[in-house]
Amino acid sequence: TVAARAVDVWKVYGSGEAQVAALRGVSVDLGRGRFTAIMGPSGSGKSTLMHCLAGLDTVTRGEVHIGDVLVTGLGDAKLTRLRRDQVGFIFQQFNLLPSLTAQENILLPLSIAGRKPDRDWFAQVIEIVGLGDRLSHRPSQLSGGQQQRVACARALVARPNVIFADEPTGNLDSRSGAEVLGFLRRSVRDYGQTIVMVTHDPNAASYADRVVFLADGEVRAELHAPTADAVL
Ligand code: ADP
Ligand code: ADP
Repeated sequence: TVAARAVDVWKVYGSGEAQVAALRGVSVDLGRGRFTAIMGPSGSGKSTLMHCLAGLDTVTRGEVHIGDVLVTGLGDAKLTRLRRDQVGFIFQQFNLLPSLTAQENILLPLSIAGRKPDRDWFAQVIEIVGLGDRLSHRPSQLSGGQQQRVACARALVARPNVIFADEPTGNLDSRSGAEVLGFLRRSVRDYGQTIVMVTHDPNAASYADRVVFLADGEVRAELHAPTADAVL
């Protein structure tokens, strides 16, 4: 089964002379419980593909599925609900609310969805990301690495169908980056979380069990671990 899927997706920005085909017939399956990295040069369509797969952007042609729902053609209200219920995000810039504590940030998506956190799972997530003594701190009192751990906990605690991570280590030193990648990988291996990560960094991609390479809006290659570990 797949957590999400793109089928022959085209994305064309602009019109007439200014047209840019950011995606040209991209098909990818995001297998449940897999950690997929999307790599490729700047401008190759990585962000566009992630936005289309996450239901943040509409496609020009083709289909996107999240879980067993056909996203293409859904209205805004349904799309918002689908994202809220099924998708988690981790960003390069952490995107935490500065006035909330770490714990409040972590629980925010659940409160917005009107869902109660599962106590045991919450405790487990806090342990996975190692934030036990920092829960009452605000983002400004945390290091970049700690802030990104809060963002990861926020994505994990809702147990979404898919987590989309856009350059999650782009603002971290290599040690904090390795920590974050380590528990993303553990959440896949030990808890069956599905993760898709866009990255420029081959070292970051080596934590994934599959790497999809884009160039000029097309899938050019796909590597599976342990091949990926060896090549990158
Ligand atoms: P990447 O994430 O690999 O750097 P992007 O998906 O951001 O690539 O961009 C792919 C192509 O689409 C680029 O040529 C970029 O300039 C273009 N593009 C992306 N977003 C837009 C947009 N909103 N309007 C017009 N062109 C865009
Ligand atoms: P990334 O490094 O993640 O690819 P970019 O800096 O390329 O991000 O783009 C940032 C934002 O601007 C994205 O939301 C992207 O869709 C949009 N964008 C990128 N290229 C263009 C463009 N040529 N015209 C308009 N928007 C663009």
